[in-house]
Parts: sequence; C-alpha cells; structure tokens
Amino acid sequence: MNRASGLVWILFVAMLGVGVRPAFAGQSVALTCTASGCGYTGTADLGGGFMFEMKTGYCVRCSRFTSVTWKRKEPAIKPIATVWAPMTGREESIYPCPKCAQPFLAISSAAQFKFCPKCQRPTIKSKLLRMYD
Ligand SMILES: [Zn+2]
Ligand SMILES: [Zn+2]
Repeated sequence: MNRASGLVWILFVAMLGVGVRPAFAGQSVALTCTASGCGYTGTADLGGGFMFEMKTGYCVRCSRFTSVTWKRKEPAIKPIATVWAPMTGREESIYPCPKCAQPFLAISSAAQFKFCPKCQRPTIKSKLLRMYD
C-alpha cells in the first residue's frame, strides 16, 4: 500500500466512526437480557431520521419500548414534562406513549440501554441492527 492510498483508507475508516456520523441518523437496536432465567428480548428505534425526529423510551404499561415521532418540518411534539435526571446529570424529557398515553422517559443514547426492564438487573446487551437516515 503506498502512502496516498493508505491516507484514503484512514479517511474512510474515520468516516465510519461515530464522531462524523450525521447527528440525525437513527438506529435500530436489538436488546437481550443476559441474566439467567430472564429471557427478555426486545427492539428499540432511537434518534429519528433525516425526515423525522424520534423520542424513545420504555412504556411500563405496554411492557415494550415505544417512541413518538414527528416530521422535522412540523412543530416538535412537546414533552409532558422535563425533569433533571440524577443518572445523567441532564434534563431529560418525558413523553406520552402513543398507544396508551403512559408517560415514558426519553432515552438519549444507546449507551443508556443498561438495565433490563423485566428483571431490573444491569444485564442488557444491545446490538446495532441497522442505521437509517
Ligand atoms: Zn404504552
Ligand atoms: Zn432481564
């Protein structure tokens, strides 16, 4: 490999990195609980796409991850409330589940998939299924 093609390769790898990914790219993740005897599996969509915005969280009434979406050119859906979350140190928003209106806390990054919603243990493994715009 000569120097120039090596540089192109490095740029290519850098572009695949998370840092230069457009902020609007959404992702679908598969969630699996690794605790013995639990067996929780689920999927969640996070982050929205090029045309729409999405807020995702776990609905305790539906027992599944749910999300609210709206088109970017339309007015944003207003959260029911905004609270300061001790576990992130930031203000986090609470939205209504579109199916049952139960409030859910919006997840802001895939790194927050940690605790299992079924057995409450920190045994959730998340796997990226796909990215979308
Ligand atoms: Zn619900
Ligand atoms: Zn579990």
